[in-house]
Amino acid sequence: MPTFDFAAPTTLAEAVTLMASAGTVRALAGGTDLIDQLKTNRRNADLVVDLKRVPELQRLGSDADGLHIGAARCCSDLHHDPTVNRLYAGLADSTGLVGSVQIQNRAAVGGNVCNAAPSGDTTPNLLVHDAIAVIAGPSGARRVELTDFFVGPGQTVLQKGEFLQELILPAPPDDSASAYLRFIPRNEMDIAVAGVASFLHIDPATKTVKKARIALASVAPTPVRARAAEAVLEGKVISASLIDAASVAAVESATPITDVRGSAEYRKELVRVLTRRTLNICLDRIGVSL
Ligand SMILES: Cc1cc2nc3c(=O)[nH]c(=O)nc-3n(C[C@H](O)[C@H](O)[C@H](O)COP(=O)(O)OP(=O)(O)OC[C@H]3O[C@@H](n4cnc5c(N)ncnc54)[C@H](O)[C@@H]3O)c2cc1C
Repeated sequence: MPTFDFAAPTTLAEAVTLMASAGTVRALAGGTDLIDQLKTNRRNADLVVDLKRVPELQRLGSDADGLHIGAARCCSDLHHDPTVNRLYAGLADSTGLVGSVQIQNRAAVGGNVCNAAPSGDTTPNLLVHDAIAVIAGPSGARRVELTDFFVGPGQTVLQKGEFLQELILPAPPDDSASAYLRFIPRNEMDIAVAGVASFLHIDPATKTVKKARIALASVAPTPVRARAAEAVLEGKVISASLIDAASVAAVESATPITDVRGSAEYRKELVRVLTRRTLNICLDRIGVSL
């Protein structure tokens, strides 16, 4: 392991000052990505700033803006949180899939987002809930829609000195639900060959789709919204054939590569299948039958 300085601030102001230090400064949440990256020289650091002791980054609670998820809050806390399970079920699904129980006890959703791996399991679920990223930095705080947060594999809009403070997920309306499924070749401890998060808001009287969101993991350089599939659904009466049409349309948003985990064609087929399945889970969770 290369050597680096280490700091563990306990206030947001202290964290902002430390993150703006000269040299290469890395934020640390759970460290399940960062420590391995440092050990294998895929990342370097002059200073590592542990953000877990900063209260704002451990926040988990709702107000008029929606659900606030502090960037260092671990996956296990979200997976077991009653509000997350009731209102943001796809996020509960995905935080229970990251690695193993031991990994979930350390790994933060904020770490998953800032690592910016296309395969990150929690990110598509934040996208389908229209998450806002609150970014802290030396020039103050700024807000960015999470759809605009990712620049490329491992790259985000965060500038020198900036770090993710929290994610805000607006409260979803009644008669809505989300769901996440991924495909891996074994039961756990693997990276998604493809993953799909879906969100539906349905008018129960007419079964019309009032809002649809679909987001994909592991099939593009960044997590992506499947906007063509969303457009197929919105404003239409939900049916099995509409879900099939949306699932086919979701493939249009996938630009996967072929690698050891799967071919591009296989990944596209997974997108189609997982989109259909997650949309059906959303309907089950809302209590709407076809
Ligand atoms: C055995 C194993 C299994 C895994 N399985 C999965 C899996 O199934 N699905 C999955 O998606 N991932 C998986 N991962 C990857 C990893 O666990 C997740 O990406 C995790 O959510 C990272 O969170 P963390 O808190 O540990 O991040 P860290 O390692 O602390 O940080 C990750 C990156 O984000 C940066 N960062 C962290 N917090 C902030 C912040 N607040 N602001 C700015 N930058 C920040 C760090 O500098 C680093 O570059 C696995 C990892 C291991 C070791």
